[in-house]
Amino acid sequence: MMRDDMKAILYTKEEVAERVRQMGAQLTADYKGEDPILVGVLRGSFIFMADLVRCIETPLELDFVAASSYGTWAVSTGQVDLRLDLEKDIIGRHVIVVEDILDTGRTLSKLVDELKKRHPASLKLCVLLDKPERRVAQIEADYVGFTVPDEFVVGCGLDFNQKYRQLPYIGILKPSVYE
Ligand code: 5GP
Ligand code: MG
Repeated sequence: MMRDDMKAILYTKEEVAERVRQMGAQLTADYKGEDPILVGVLRGSFIFMADLVRCIETPLELDFVAASSYGTWAVSTGQVDLRLDLEKDIIGRHVIVVEDILDTGRTLSKLVDELKKRHPASLKLCVLLDKPERRVAQIEADYVGFTVPDEFVVGCGLDFNQKYRQLPYIGILKPSVYE
C-alpha cells in the first residue's frame, strides 16, 4: 500500500482542492483581459496545472516545457536542459510558469532566465509548494499554494523515482523508502 510509505499527510485532497481554488480565483482577478499563457513544467506540474486551469475563469492558453533534472531530487547540477520547448512564441505575452515545487530554485531560475530572453510582456511564477529552507538560487514565486518544511514530499504530481505522482494528497515520504 502506498499509504504505508507515508510518514505523514501534509495536506489532504480537500485542502489542496480548496487552496487551488483560491489560487485560481486570484489568477482570474489578476489576469482579467490579459490572455496569459500558462507554461507547465513537465512532468511534476501536470496535476496542479490541470486542477488550477479549471479554477481560472478568464481566457488563457497552455503550453509545456520539460526540464530534465539529472539523477534524483537531491542531486542538483545547476544545469537546465530543455527536453521539450514551447510550441509558440511568447514575445509580448503574459507568461505564468507553473511548477510543482520551488526547492533550491536552480531549475526554475535557469528556466525563467531562458524564457525572459524571449521578451514576454510579463513573467510570473506559480507553484503548488514552496520549500524556502533549501533555496540556493535567487528566486521567489509570485503565487504559492503551501509553504512546506524541508522534507521530501510526494503526491499531486510530485514523484519519487516516477512513483507516487497519482496520490491525491501531499504526503511526506518515509525516509526508509529512499534511504
Ligand atoms: P529545484 O531546482 O528548485 O531544487 O527543484 C526542482 C525540482 O526538484 C522540482 O521540480 C521537483 O521535481 C524536485 N523536488 C524538489 N523538492 C522535492 C520534494 O520534496 N519532493 C519531490 N517529489 N520532488 C522535489
Ligand atoms: Mg519537477
